[in-house]
Amino acid sequence: MWKKDSKNLLKINRVVFLIFLVGIGIGLSLVISIFVRTPPSYYEHTGFTLGTYCRIVVSSKKGSKTLSEIIFNELDRIYKKFDPNNPNSVISKINTSTDWVDLDEETFVLLDAALKFSQITDGAFDPTLGNLIRLWGFDRISEKMPTKIPSSNEIEEILRHCGADKVELDNRMRRVRLKDGVTLDLGGIAKGYALDRAYQIAKEVDSNCTGFVEAGGDIRILGPKFGSRPWVIGVRDPRKADSAITYIYLKDGAVATSGDYERYFIVGDIRYHHIFDPRTGYPAVGAQSVTVVAREATTADVLSTAGFVMAPDWEYVVLEYPRLGGSVLLIDQEGKLHRSTSFSIYEQAK
Ligand code: AMP
Ligand code: MG
Repeated sequence: MWKKDSKNLLKINRVVFLIFLVGIGIGLSLVISIFVRTPPSYYEHTGFTLGTYCRIVVSSKKGSKTLSEIIFNELDRIYKKFDPNNPNSVISKINTSTDWVDLDEETFVLLDAALKFSQITDGAFDPTLGNLIRLWGFDRISEKMPTKIPSSNEIEEILRHCGADKVELDNRMRRVRLKDGVTLDLGGIAKGYALDRAYQIAKEVDSNCTGFVEAGGDIRILGPKFGSRPWVIGVRDPRKADSAITYIYLKDGAVATSGDYERYFIVGDIRYHHIFDPRTGYPAVGAQSVTVVAREATTADVLSTAGFVMAPDWEYVVLEYPRLGGSVLLIDQEGKLHRSTSFSIYEQAK
């Protein structure tokens, strides 16, 4: 009898102990989940569009994978719409017409922005270099690098068919007309614009999403890493692939780099690359790369291209470009670094 009682008591004790353990377990996990918020996990999507590799790294409570697909589709939509090599693009339509072409609102706004950037950079950024870029053979992204240097006569002739003064933009009727056989090339602004659109569309879906979108080295931040930390971005050493010359720390905004290592060919010991000085018709000299941090990717993209063209006057670029909205790191032809004071702030880990 006593033995049986003591056995039952032992059983009850065991059950009570187990309940106690489970209780502690639940309590602990509740405390942990309250005090230690698990950081969001990031979904990564890579794909080829905008003539380059694009990477989307995003975290959203509304579904990271779906959001990354929405973003990629938006990048691709813009690529197809503004690619001068796509016969169905709006740019092809404008370039092949000698008459007025009616524009949708998006195209009008982008073209208007491109022409204004051309003005404020004294023509260093020039969205009308379509003919020159084709002459040099840098228009076909998918094909191998060109190797032929056009003659100075050919260049001189083609420059007569370039220039923002040959673009008539009619605000009232929202239409454009190209004169003197000029053709548009928005390669220096479209990537940045696409990244800004990616940001807008991502925030429309989930205003709290975080991550970044990268297109060929240009980056638009969607939100800080894990909600509070900066993203660490390496600025490429122009002469050493896979090696960073410095790092920047961004929680928002955008960064873009224009470099002579992106698309180029070498003849003799001269490097012929894809960023042109509109005054000479030859690849711009004076820089190996120009990196610009700005609030928006469009500004960063344009100013990095324009800063590259203006690189011989690097003092002007690093001092004055912050007034246009961009902080600059310019690496000159000798590999020497020149930076805006505001750029060095981004190089400090916070
Ligand atoms: P990015 O790599 O952003 O500097 O853009 C370079 C692309 O912009 C080239 O591949 C051309 O399509 C175009 N481009 C080249 N030179 C210029 C220029 N001076 N102004 C505007 N766009 C340019
Ligand atoms: Mg650019």
